[in-house]
Amino acid sequence: MKNLVDRFNRIHDYLRISLTDKCNLNCIYCNPKTLQRSSLHQNELLSFEELIELIIIFLQSFGVKKIRFTGGEPLARKDVLQFFEKVSRLKNDNNFEIGLTTNGTLLEENLEILKQFRFDKLNISLDSLNREKFAAITGSDSLHSVLRSIEKALHLGFSSLKLNAVIIKNINDSEILDFVDFVKDKDINIRFIEFMPFTNNAWSKDGFISSSEIRNVIEQKYLLRKLEIKLSLVSKDYELVGYKGKVSFISSISDHFCDSCNRLRITAKGKMKLCLFSTSESELDFRKIFSEGSFGRDEKLKRSEIEEKIVRAMELKNEKHPEIESIVQMDQNEMIGIGG
Ligand code: SAM
Repeated sequence: MKNLVDRFNRIHDYLRISLTDKCNLNCIYCNPKTLQRSSLHQNELLSFEELIELIIIFLQSFGVKKIRFTGGEPLARKDVLQFFEKVSRLKNDNNFEIGLTTNGTLLEENLEILKQFRFDKLNISLDSLNREKFAAITGSDSLHSVLRSIEKALHLGFSSLKLNAVIIKNINDSEILDFVDFVKDKDINIRFIEFMPFTNNAWSKDGFISSSEIRNVIEQKYLLRKLEIKLSLVSKDYELVGYKGKVSFISSISDHFCDSCNRLRITAKGKMKLCLFSTSESELDFRKIFSEGSFGRDEKLKRSEIEEKIVRAMELKNEKHPEIESIVQMDQNEMIGIGG
């Protein structure tokens, strides 16, 4: 087994897989605002069999420790539970954590089975606690089902429950304290995420609010103390002194954390993305590799060819993501297919 190390000595042991670009919500910060989106067809996605092959390679050849499924909405992909069952069986022989990032609308009825499949980490997006505003942000009147999922996840004992809130000025920044009030007595980590530009999303400089501004608002009411043990490599984590809940800030724009990047992504289309903002030249196309590989039915050859391509692609990873001015100009970098 060898580690996946890039030119800057960063070890990559965290794989995020987007299972679909389809989503049952239409969030303003995620979806292209002008284009009418059409989702990929099932046969344009990596099949579950191909994904399992890749997961085995990442676990066994490269020692990946954590795999997170995202989307689009991962729970919206057809037959996803059968796939999750296969992934969970890999836990018998491999030491890794399974995470899921979900909008929480299809979660409630699936929580028991995810618990049975030994999902370790659950991140739920929640961008407003106000029913009308939630609907305006997501295009769906489904705040109640997300809240029910959160309550049930707590009840079932999912630890490390995280809520992700993308804060946008004049949209939901008036709710920063409401989010903290919501988690203060719960075993939940609320994570405030800086609004990032993606192709055709609703990003503008005027809508941007930095982590430090958000923190200032919270500190008007609560005492925050930096946590000794980090909850994640990308966040700055705080305890709410006197309360159970925790607060984190993800400052991808104002204070990027590229130095400690340990992540690789596979998009819904089956491209390996070295960075959320990397360009197509550095993307490995797994669908193409599976369909055109010279390995035929030879499993060993297939595995070594794929391993070699992954190792070579790692050399293209940049030291840090581009500056915001370039990111804003980026074409074909739609969040919905990458998965955050
Ligand atoms: N459907 C799932 C969900 O809603 O969590 C998974 C996909 S969603 C793209 C994954 C994460 O990306 C969410 O937590 C969301 O908040 C975050 N995200 C999407 N667009 C973003 C943006 N423009 N800036 C910051 N975070 C964003």
